[in-house]
Amino acid sequence: LVDNISQNYILKSEKKDIEIPNITLPELLTTYQDKFEKYVASECAFTKRKYSYGELRDYSTSLSKALKKILKLKSENVVAVICRNIPEYPIACLGIIKANLIVTTISSVFSPDEICRQMIDSDTKALITEVGLYANVRLALDNAKKKVPIVIIKTEPGQVIPENTIDFHEVIKAKHDYPNIIPNSPNSVAVMPYSSGTTGLPKGVELTHRNLVANILQCFDCDMEYQTEASDTYQEVIPTVLPYYHIFGLSLLFGVHLSGGNMVSISSYSQDLFVSVLKEYRTTLLYLVPPLVLMITHNEAVKRESLDRVKAILSGGAPLSATDEQKLLEKFDHEVLFLQGYGLTETSPVVAELYPSILIEEKYYKGSIGKPLPNTLTKIVNPEDAKNTPLGPNCTGELLVKGPQVMKGYHKLPEETKKIMSEDGWLRSGDLGHFNEKGFLFITDRMKELIKVKGNQVAPSELEGIIRSFPGVADAAVIGIPHERAGEVPRAYIVAEENLNIEKLQEFFNGKVAKYKQLKGGIELVESIPKNASGKILRRELRTMYLDKNI
Ligand code: AMP
Repeated sequence: LVDNISQNYILKSEKKDIEIPNITLPELLTTYQDKFEKYVASECAFTKRKYSYGELRDYSTSLSKALKKILKLKSENVVAVICRNIPEYPIACLGIIKANLIVTTISSVFSPDEICRQMIDSDTKALITEVGLYANVRLALDNAKKKVPIVIIKTEPGQVIPENTIDFHEVIKAKHDYPNIIPNSPNSVAVMPYSSGTTGLPKGVELTHRNLVANILQCFDCDMEYQTEASDTYQEVIPTVLPYYHIFGLSLLFGVHLSGGNMVSISSYSQDLFVSVLKEYRTTLLYLVPPLVLMITHNEAVKRESLDRVKAILSGGAPLSATDEQKLLEKFDHEVLFLQGYGLTETSPVVAELYPSILIEEKYYKGSIGKPLPNTLTKIVNPEDAKNTPLGPNCTGELLVKGPQVMKGYHKLPEETKKIMSEDGWLRSGDLGHFNEKGFLFITDRMKELIKVKGNQVAPSELEGIIRSFPGVADAAVIGIPHERAGEVPRAYIVAEENLNIEKLQEFFNGKVAKYKQLKGGIELVESIPKNASGKILRRELRTMYLDKNI
């Protein structure tokens, strides 16, 4: 066995552990905001609004003071950010975090019902949004019967802010007479994105400063092998369509500080827009989810010339086959590193990565998600075995993770936290995989209920609840089925009573959910939903049935 596999089949990093300083996220990032002060940190691909690292530092400090002084928010209150990928996103998040408040990120494409649910569950005390999203946010607040202060961002010239809202740009540029805020303990919660984990509804994932600081440094220890620090002659350019509300996008906004790169925000996605940004910005690093990898491969308008500065492509968030990886690389004239990363919202997010120094013999790592990051342990266990005995090389089982990036727990849900995390800190990923004799990890299937549509989470229980609430539905189950471009799409199985009107059901359903959660995999009427003795839906049985019939 190679060095990173221990006698008891626990996989560790090939790199030495790193020291994780006992500081908060803003304390870590301020060092780099000072160092790269004059370089552009965050830029809008369309309007060209941009902020330097120095501005990020100063504006987020002003915002933090305003949140305390004007809004009178108390330590560890939750503030929601509901924005598209706009260059003000890191200012909003860091301002909230610097004020010792907790940021919960809400998708900009959520329906008012979905926004309302997350605001109530997280007990949001204030929110930051954009003028263009205000109407939806207003509906959500009215549904929730909530009155919270709104700080609003103008994203286009000539926009006016709605009545009784606070102008973000005025606040960040003002000098607030408020004492410097002493940071909370690094063990306090900083960020709370939502994830359904292995089962049930989306839950608030409590990520502490320490979790985030650790993961940024763990990743950088691997990433610095191919990233170059900003200087007067070179800067990494990273166009981002990965939504910032999701931990993958959000962690990039923080992690980019270490190399002083420029995050070019793409606020509205279409293939044409993305392709034109690639061309205009002459990207150096690409962080993608598999559907975007496929798009770049197959879109004729993505020309070799517009990719000539790309050094590395990192794909994560969902599985990508070795064939798709190969096809993408054929698009380049020059040598490009193709790296996979694997993670979960619950692990801040990165667990394992392929990075240059382990790419020695291709036959061992093709299709692999790499090896654990420094300070991270993983094991593959038999999911049926209550003792979680680790399995050896090339045996398939559930992947478990332990490390400083593992979340504190689910917000106000100690029982749910216990189900996913053991007392000695091992987190169940809900993913099936194995490692080979060289210690490379592979993810081969998902045991958990989660469906991933274009990298976004879809929780079957949430969709089932909406379907069941419609008159004429006796029972329902939702599964994910494979989809060529999206990766997976949701499909519903419904037990109908006599009066069920499917068209009306669909209309009702589509009004309640974000577009990516729509039932693009179809609806099938069935006599009954397969369940085990304790009433749990046997989703795997439905999935196997579907695959047997259709593939
Ligand atoms: P999220 O919490 O939304 O980041 O989703 C985490 C889940 O995405 C994981 O548990 C996996 O099921 C899936 N995932 C993330 N990265 C990969 C990858 N590189 N290969 C396969 N599945 C992945």
